Amino acid sequence: MDIDSNQQIDKAATAPQASDHQAVWLQGLNAPQLEAVTTLDGPLLVLSGAGTGKTRVLTSRLAQLVASRTAAPWNILAVTFTNKAAREMKARVGQLVGPMVEQVMLGTFHSIAARMLRTHAELVGLRSDFTILDTDDQLRLLKQLMEADGLDIKRWPPRQIAFHIGRWKDRGLTPDKITRAEAGDIANGKIADLYRQYQERLITLNAADFGDLLLHMLVIFNKHHDVLAGYQARLTHIMVDEYQDTNIAQYLWLRLLSSKHHNLCCVGDDDQSIYGWRGAEVGNILKFSTDFPEAVTVRLEENYRSTGHILAAASALISNNETRLGKTLYTSDDLGQKVHISGYWDGQEEARSLSSQIESLMKRDHDLNEIAVLVRAGFQTREFEERFIAIGLPYRVVGTRFYERAEIRDAMAYLRLVYQPADDLAFERIINTPKRGLGDASLQIIYAYARAAEKPYFAAASDLLDSDELKTAARRQLGQFVIQVERWRDQLGIMPPGDLARIILDESGYTEMWQTHKSADAPGRLENLKELVVAIDDFDTLGSFLEHIALVMDNDTSPTEGEVTLMTLHAAKGLEFETVFLPGWEEGVFPSQRTLEENGGAGLEEERRLGYVGITRARRNLYISFAANRRVHGLWQSSVPSRFVAELPSEHVDEDMAQGLSIGRAEPVMIGGADTRVGKAGYGPGWQRMARAGHAQIASPARDAGGYAETSSGGGFQIGDRVFHQKFGMGDVRSVEGDKLDIAFDKAGRKKVVSSFVSKP
Ligand code: ATP
Ligand code: MG
Repeated sequence: MDIDSNQQIDKAATAPQASDHQAVWLQGLNAPQLEAVTTLDGPLLVLSGAGTGKTRVLTSRLAQLVASRTAAPWNILAVTFTNKAAREMKARVGQLVGPMVEQVMLGTFHSIAARMLRTHAELVGLRSDFTILDTDDQLRLLKQLMEADGLDIKRWPPRQIAFHIGRWKDRGLTPDKITRAEAGDIANGKIADLYRQYQERLITLNAADFGDLLLHMLVIFNKHHDVLAGYQARLTHIMVDEYQDTNIAQYLWLRLLSSKHHNLCCVGDDDQSIYGWRGAEVGNILKFSTDFPEAVTVRLEENYRSTGHILAAASALISNNETRLGKTLYTSDDLGQKVHISGYWDGQEEARSLSSQIESLMKRDHDLNEIAVLVRAGFQTREFEERFIAIGLPYRVVGTRFYERAEIRDAMAYLRLVYQPADDLAFERIINTPKRGLGDASLQIIYAYARAAEKPYFAAASDLLDSDELKTAARRQLGQFVIQVERWRDQLGIMPPGDLARIILDESGYTEMWQTHKSADAPGRLENLKELVVAIDDFDTLGSFLEHIALVMDNDTSPTEGEVTLMTLHAAKGLEFETVFLPGWEEGVFPSQRTLEENGGAGLEEERRLGYVGITRARRNLYISFAANRRVHGLWQSSVPSRFVAELPSEHVDEDMAQGLSIGRAEPVMIGGADTRVGKAGYGPGWQRMARAGHAQIASPARDAGGYAETSSGGGFQIGDRVFHQKFGMGDVRSVEGDKLDIAFDKAGRKKVVSSFVSKP
């Protein structure tokens, strides 16, 4: 073990000096902040509302710990919620204390645990170069184990099993801790055993999944007291940001590490706990004082971020939650602008208006980097992205831009292949997605033949169907695929492109692939796919849509001075902007229907916290909006404003409604509400217009014929020729049909092969 526990600096000799209070990181702090920053020993909880300077306190405290020589940089562990936050904190502390910041153990739970586990990997049977598995590998592994166990993977999709195992890991539960009751009848009651086998396989493979990083460290700490003691001696001071969103495994890990010195400082806000769906336990923050009875709790009440009306609106909204500690927040700032609430006729009008508001802010020299558009779900960025591109407004998406998301690229590849059979990149991307049993070997045969015959992959694949080059099973699968694609192609120009896209995604099994995915992001991906179809519905032909996309994708903004930020509310935690737009505040969208259905009242409260997080990101200007009609997942809905809009007190808002719209304060809306869905007939322009096949040339890889092998069709073979085939060996040509040969092989019998695969010996 290479932890140097002797490096701790002698505290007595270098106690904080009075002059430290003049230090730059202490300047301007209010009294409770100063108390938190200078309370360096013992457990400390900073529990307070948004924008009260919790993160600033952590940063200043880190500087104070080092400058006062209470702890050396390597004695400090600082945990942030995202890698981005870690980088920011490092930069901020770096300015205060210089390059010493490099020695602080600073990062997310996962990054720190991964670093630790590499040092002690052998204690759980891993080597230090273990791989961290991605989801695909993880599922493949589970599937193998399940099949070996004779489990029906249709009934129990590996995704679902992986999900349960992940949640157990979040709770620090190793396989031996899974009780019968816990396991229930999942996978016919075999899930605990599967979990055990899965863990064993991972060790054999020298691999760990994401949840293992912390879990293994917990096991090591519990079994190897010397290791734990080493870290305890070294890490004398521990700090954690966003503590309300820690899960149980993280909590246990922190407790073990801090149990010697008790110098654990956690900051958080129970009102901002928004990751319950991923295993976060708001209870961790609520029981801090029970865990550490000697804990000092500091409450910060002055909000430095937002102006009066914004803060009042946020406080009023969150006061509707019953399960909360309750806090007072005030600002010394002026009241500022009221919260602008706008109601629009439909989502497009909302996007148009929002972008012209941003344009006029820009004309008044508003820094674009200080503007954010925050949405509830990832698919909602699409409408804004297209609008921003259309008017040339620089923007960046935190997360992935809509058309660059994997599922969108997959879906686009299907459409491109149907539209443009020579699109080899598209073919490669989706030929085995979802899995069609076409392994690398089969694909290599197709690609080799295509190169030799100078044909596109799709044409090559059709050719190979009449030969024995491919194994029977692969040939059957490929045959079905080719027939499907040709059938879809027949519908070009007949069926409206949005409908065709929907059918392609369904018939290909692509939609189902995500439906059976039990990962946390699968529902979001399905929403994105539906949003894609919505986008296509606006076009007359698939061709014109694909051309539009080719242009959109090409429109990568060159580095500019500033960019509007587009991201989800979840991703915005901890950040702040001068101006914030919160569109889509409609029942069903926000609060999200799915959350309400799955988690009822608790789900509603988590949604409301998300609203609170959204509002409190704004410093001076806040625009909330909703639309009366919206196409959600391909269906036109007439929607009612979110109940959260009605919860904002009228004295803090300015309303600007399209004709006939109102916030609906008088009658709060019920969960679920009436079924407001309207069929799409009569709305989508693409639905009514006659579709014509488009003629647009879509960016597709030009085939570089020059790069292909010269040996091609016919091959100069004749009946009776003696030939050699890599796989089938020697044989005699019995008939020649174009470039296909019928050969009687000495060992393999009669086969049809493509001429480029055989040679004259
Ligand atoms: P959140 O709950 O959203 O994570 P937070 O409590 O972590 O918020 P910070 O991000 O640390 O709050 O601070 C909010 C803003 O207030 C920042 O711009 C910060 O620089 C500023 N701020 C914090 N404390 C003070 C202070 N004493 N004087 C002036 N500005 C301050
Ligand atoms: Mg913060």
